[in-house]
Amino acid sequence: MEKAKMFLVRYAEIGTKGKNRYVFEDILCKRIRSRLKPLGEFDVRRDFGRIYIEALSDYDYDEAVERLTKIFGIVGLCPVTVSDELTYESIRKAVIDHFESTFAEDGFDFSFKVHTRRINKDFPMNSMEIDMEIGHDLLEKYESEGLHVDVHKPDIMVEVELRGEKGYVYSKILPGPGGLPVGTNGKAMSLLSGGIDSPVATYMVAKRGVEMEAVYFNSPPYTSARALEKVQKLGTIVAQYSGPIKMYVVNFTDVQLAIYDNCPHDQLTIIMKRYFFRMAADLAKRDDCQAIVTGESIGQVSSQTMQSLAVIDDAVDTPVFRPVIGMDKQEIVEYSQKIGTFETSIEPYEDCCTIFVDKHPVTKPKLYAIEKSEKRLEGIIEPLYQKALESAEVVILK
Ligand code: ATP
Ligand code: MG
Repeated sequence: MEKAKMFLVRYAEIGTKGKNRYVFEDILCKRIRSRLKPLGEFDVRRDFGRIYIEALSDYDYDEAVERLTKIFGIVGLCPVTVSDELTYESIRKAVIDHFESTFAEDGFDFSFKVHTRRINKDFPMNSMEIDMEIGHDLLEKYESEGLHVDVHKPDIMVEVELRGEKGYVYSKILPGPGGLPVGTNGKAMSLLSGGIDSPVATYMVAKRGVEMEAVYFNSPPYTSARALEKVQKLGTIVAQYSGPIKMYVVNFTDVQLAIYDNCPHDQLTIIMKRYFFRMAADLAKRDDCQAIVTGESIGQVSSQTMQSLAVIDDAVDTPVFRPVIGMDKQEIVEYSQKIGTFETSIEPYEDCCTIFVDKHPVTKPKLYAIEKSEKRLEGIIEPLYQKALESAEVVILK
């Protein structure tokens, strides 16, 4: 089966952005180019409010489709068959070639309708005449195999477009993730852990066009190298959609031990989270990120009650986005299965939260009580905090 040399990219939301539309389209083209670059030579161009991808060299079709259908901003991807020239005979041949390469495997027992757009008005037939002729030719060839016309609810819409000196034929839409191209909406710092929730949260914000950075708080030797590897693996899966993620790995052990040694143990998780947030906010400011992102969801665990979330939020001025806030665990699980992070998330390696947790943590912390406890850290925690930030390692996940 011959693989398409060309794809038509369908995008929805960016089409509605008025004057900014070109900016959005350019960023989407750039994202497409960079994702396809390792696979061969491609021409990615904007044309009459559409994006076309043309393969100029041999390439791995399945890998290209896999990559393209993960790019935010792409709603659908149509493999296109292009006619050699703009004659009826050439267009007819392109349609038949298209049918052979697209449907031969599963057979031709379905209904169809031809829909022609004649952008180049020089072509001697009008679009209705082309619809009818092509429909007739298709039936002649495939009717005995079950092909039939349904003008109201066809299984397959055969799109024929006459543009410039070529005819373009497509019929199949491979769904993309939708959303907005990354790079159109600023940057955010995600608190990425090895769980199920934060990779989903990171994906959801990236899907709105936000470039993502990440921070992982590591507590060796209480957490294993495997736990860090797992987080990196999760970040890499998300990066297939979002583009490269710059991730900070902060050695949090000394800060955590200082909290453990000086603060009431039922408040450990809340205070630790406040320090996560402070460090994330510092890194965010350094890198010009406008917000922090976490995988918290109301009521999921004791540190995610409304009271806890409010007290944790109070530690920073930076806006905190929690895209899974209103989702049930099962919904987050289904989401993670859809984007492909679930299997990695359920690997067993501990993250630092699960090691320093108290048996009976406060579920309705009071800000004044937490602030009072944090006073005990004054003079102790600052150098540890600075050192942790300064020694943070950077990895680029892609
Ligand atoms: P997740 O499934 O994302 O790990 P969780 O259900 O385990 O979340 P918590 O452990 O309470 O919930 O963590 C809440 C959020 O805090 C996480 O979603 C993540 O954004 C952040 N977080 C927790 N631990 C870490 C860590 N070690 N490094 C970076 N961020 C963390
Ligand atoms: Mg977790």
